[in-house]
Amino acid sequence: MTDNEKTVTVLAGNPNVGKSTVFNSLTGMKQHTGNWTGKTVSCAAGQRITDGHTYVFTDLPGCYSLNARSSEEEAARDCIYFGEYDRAVVVCDASCLERNFFLAAQILEVCGDAVICINLVDEAGKRGISVDGQLISERLGVPVVMMSARRRGEAAKLLPALGKPSDSVPEIRYPEPIKEYITAVHTLLIGTGTARRQATVFALRLLDSGSDFTDRLAEKYRISDENRSGCKTLAKRFIDSHGGSDTVNDMISGAVSAFASDAVSGAVRTGNGAGKGSRADRILTGKLTAFPVMFILLMGILWLTVTGANYPSELLSHLFSRLEGGVSSLLTSAGAPEVLTSLFCEGVIRVVGWVVSVMLPPMAIFFPLFTLLEDVGYLPRIAYNLDRGFAGCSACGKQALTMCMGFGCNAVGVTGCRIIDSKRERLLAVLTNSFMPCNGRFPILIAVISMFSACVGLWGSAILALVIVLAVMITLGVSKLLSETVLRGVPSSFTLELPPYRTPQFGKVLIRSVLDRTLFVLGRAAAVAAPTGLVIWLLANTGSGGISTLSRLSGFLDPVGRIMGLDGVIILAFILGLPANEIVIPIIMMCYVSGGSLVGCASLPELKNLLVSNGWNTVTAINTVIFTVFHWPCSTTLLTVKKETGKARCAIAAALIPTVIGTVLCIAVNLVSHIFA
Ligand code: GDP
Repeated sequence: MTDNEKTVTVLAGNPNVGKSTVFNSLTGMKQHTGNWTGKTVSCAAGQRITDGHTYVFTDLPGCYSLNARSSEEEAARDCIYFGEYDRAVVVCDASCLERNFFLAAQILEVCGDAVICINLVDEAGKRGISVDGQLISERLGVPVVMMSARRRGEAAKLLPALGKPSDSVPEIRYPEPIKEYITAVHTLLIGTGTARRQATVFALRLLDSGSDFTDRLAEKYRISDENRSGCKTLAKRFIDSHGGSDTVNDMISGAVSAFASDAVSGAVRTGNGAGKGSRADRILTGKLTAFPVMFILLMGILWLTVTGANYPSELLSHLFSRLEGGVSSLLTSAGAPEVLTSLFCEGVIRVVGWVVSVMLPPMAIFFPLFTLLEDVGYLPRIAYNLDRGFAGCSACGKQALTMCMGFGCNAVGVTGCRIIDSKRERLLAVLTNSFMPCNGRFPILIAVISMFSACVGLWGSAILALVIVLAVMITLGVSKLLSETVLRGVPSSFTLELPPYRTPQFGKVLIRSVLDRTLFVLGRAAAVAAPTGLVIWLLANTGSGGISTLSRLSGFLDPVGRIMGLDGVIILAFILGLPANEIVIPIIMMCYVSGGSLVGCASLPELKNLLVSNGWNTVTAINTVIFTVFHWPCSTTLLTVKKETGKARCAIAAALIPTVIGTVLCIAVNLVSHIFA
């Protein structure tokens, strides 16, 4: 693997120490960074070429140790043990080195060397903490690089260190009985082609890891079956005669902790400077204040989104309307057949115009605001605040984090559920993730609420915030129901780290949320909208007996729709919107337009007129909002559920649960409205 032109490096470290920041800065890639634990759930790879030398980097999910308690930790562990790389870099947080060095000690033991990258030096400095990297380097015999990776160019300091050899790294000092056991394993293995370090690592893993893992390790270290079983017998005897595996694990961990503590002792000087975070936490996570603050923040974000989006929305809609008019007269004057002009202008431009003018402005406001909260470190506080509620439903508080990810995109939220260690709780989170309206559904909610609530501005945002609160409550309710029936179990305890509050990087947040999220989602929506616009136009303009195929389809669904206080067109739109929810409203528009006429591109008042003239009233609007939140997730999310759980029936459940809830709620609202009508 090692050659003169290429160095392959893995970046390991505790969560939230800046690995992705280092990785992005080195490779120019845009791996998600965020101020909370557990957001990198899979390995990302990238490269850079400097002075003709190729550096390949892999960013591993954060982990506190190589003892792999969750699937993300397992991914990191497997890469360290079985990956093909030249050098491991352990990224550490300068403010809590000793804790970070537990992982460093384990990696040094497995690899025999590593580069230690002490990051967040600026933040530590503000808290009066200084670190003597030179001393640590001398003690451990490995290169130590100090940096503040957020600063431009700092991460490149790592490159020269990657080529520097390590001296002999001191060994972890295990208690005498373990040492004797290791010597016994050495006697069996050394001389059979197994290196001394590998024999030590193998001996230790036999004491604290499952046999799946140790079998793979034996294979990697080329330990013969016979020697493997000899070692296993030694390990079993040792565990039995030393109080069982828990006691033995504690002995090993104790020795690793002592190594970590020795490595940093005297090299870290602390001053005073802490306290800023705890004051803010008293309000943001305080018993009486946490929930009101959460609600006000949510409402504030929604208000800024809804009001701020109005003007640019109108402007864009106007622009598209002119574009449609322009293209139409151009095609007509060029002698294009009327069908083609209509197909292109009313089928494609109008639908894409809707998607862009209605979706772009709210997303361009919502995402940066949300990402700012994430960057400051508020997301884990939300998880902390909601933890009690989730524990009460036998679910995991980290589900609040995956819910927040679902706000952006449910497929991302579902993948993010890997941060939940217990399989049962992970499944709960996966199955309920789509209750959080993703960015494809947000615009539908915003548009329908703005058109029909007659409460614009603050009150409109309050309604939207209440819809989200309802979604959270139903998430809790369904989690409870599932955990008392098919997914029974006790809630696991977990340590959620509240990261320090960090000044967000406004520029980066803006770029990341606009480029990565907004434009990505918009691109996807437009890519789906254009062909769907075409298909719908075709369905609307073909048929027999003077009735279009579209009308036939919606007519077929109409009875179901009516029972739910909706109509066939709305149901058809949600069905056709399976590839992407973004296109639900355009489909509704197209269906109605095919029966009447819409002047130019729709702005919200025009759209409202169209809807009302097709029989919409307040109940239709309420039920559309309900069904938008509670119906089958998009196809990408369903595929992700299947991939993450490995079971098609989980994907079916993920589609059925919200659909049943949505249908029941809509029927209930419809019934109540009829009773009081
Ligand atoms: P990871 O979980 O280890 O990949 O950490 P990230 O790269 O996502 O970084 C976590 C947070 O720390 C983000 O908000 C980063 O912007 C911030 N961060 C990373 N490096 C530094 C640094 O050197 N100084 C400061 N002040 N913040 C940093």
